[in-house]
Amino acid sequence: MEVVCSVCGVKRASVYQRHSGLKLCGDCLYGDVKARVLNQMSRYSMILPWERVLVGLSGGKDSFVLLNILAELHSPSRLVGLMIEEGIYGYNRDEVLEYMRSVCRDVGVECIKTSLKRELGYTVDDYMKHQLSSGREYIASACTYCGIARRRILNSYARMLGLDKVATGHNLDDEVQTYVINIMRGDFMRLLQLHPLSSVHSSKLVKRVKPLRMVYEYETTMLAYTMGYRFQEAECPYISTRPTLRVKVREMLISLEMRRPGAQLRFLEFIDTVLGTAVGTGVFKSVELPHCRQCGEPTSPNRDLCKFCELIDRMKMAQWLEISDQ
Ligand SMILES: [Zn+2]
Ligand SMILES: [Zn+2]
Repeated sequence: MEVVCSVCGVKRASVYQRHSGLKLCGDCLYGDVKARVLNQMSRYSMILPWERVLVGLSGGKDSFVLLNILAELHSPSRLVGLMIEEGIYGYNRDEVLEYMRSVCRDVGVECIKTSLKRELGYTVDDYMKHQLSSGREYIASACTYCGIARRRILNSYARMLGLDKVATGHNLDDEVQTYVINIMRGDFMRLLQLHPLSSVHSSKLVKRVKPLRMVYEYETTMLAYTMGYRFQEAECPYISTRPTLRVKVREMLISLEMRRPGAQLRFLEFIDTVLGTAVGTGVFKSVELPHCRQCGEPTSPNRDLCKFCELIDRMKMAQWLEISDQ
């Protein structure tokens, strides 16, 4: 029997929205998600009407949804899409990136493509290969290297092009996982940095915004499907080969969400309120981050070598030991 959408009462429902108990058609799901994005954007003044924004595009479901909604809520001529090829064998597919480019063209957004190899010298595969073949102590996961590298490239393009913000497609699940991980690490400074109202602590950093932070991952998946996008469905191979803390936290949160639908949404709302008070008092307002002695980019307080340079140095060391062993 065909189920009718709980909102419009006309179209066939294709999604059961667990946290609201509603059965929605593709159009009503889009309307609901767009409203949540608009709410976050105006509540935290994420993107002001005259601002020019770099949009990080991975070719995954989140990037199609982000691009589409931003092109509707903001002037497409003030958006620039940046696609970064990570260099992961069997995962980065040229046709996905070419398709992404055509979608950018359809919504009137300029699009640039680059790669980790071109910008930083090492793909994710290069990085992992040298670590694993050295047979020595494991340095850091592929996700750590990839995450830091992508953030660095997004920031440097935004800075180079003189853009005001960097928008990424992080969804609710991503955001809650990051909060939980940093709570478990007891990293209060980083927790505050995650709040949408936090300020940047270096003139070299461009403020990052996450318009989809209140949208569940399953919602972006369903939207990308119902909107007919051909997105990258395969999961990155490094996620299953070596489960990180994030993967474990993600599994835990998914099972909690099954028992208590809406738990992640309420968690984020709660933590936003609590941290908002601390951000408002300006505990870290005057902090100016030091610069890395090697690359000159901003680094964490009390560090003179940034995490990125540290990873690269240790990888080069592993590579050198490997050669000298032969
Ligand atoms: Zn409907
Ligand atoms: Zn550095």
